[in-house]
Amino acid sequence: MFTRIIDREIPATIVAETDRLIAIEDINPQAPLHVLVIPKTQQYRDVVELAAGDPALLAELVALAGEIAGRAGDSFRLVFNTGADAGQTVFHVHAHVLAGRLEEGTLA
Ligand code: 5GP
Repeated sequence: MFTRIIDREIPATIVAETDRLIAIEDINPQAPLHVLVIPKTQQYRDVVELAAGDPALLAELVALAGEIAGRAGDSFRLVFNTGADAGQTVFHVHAHVLAGRLEEGTLA
């Protein structure tokens, strides 16, 4: 599904893009700033696979998340839902960047 966004086959609001990453607004935001940072490769299902397979790409992802969150303030949550029981619905690794006022107890 994210591949179709990366390939511009379905629309998304793109907030940043690099050679290896794309960042889009979440379609169902859980916070005033809710951005997904997604490696363009769909090789990794989750953050554990990404960390093992390409730690430099994970570091790039974290840096881009910080840069995007920094546009809204200093503090943010970086959430990787990992596994269906933890709420992961898209098995193409992505980070949720959440900033601004968060609903009590809510994680995306
Ligand atoms: P997960 O539940 O896998 O951690 O996160 C998947 C996220 O993708 C959800 O927060 C969901 O709102 C978002 N999402 C699902 N489909 C689309 C879409 O077509 N466009 C965008 N921008 N976000 C999507």
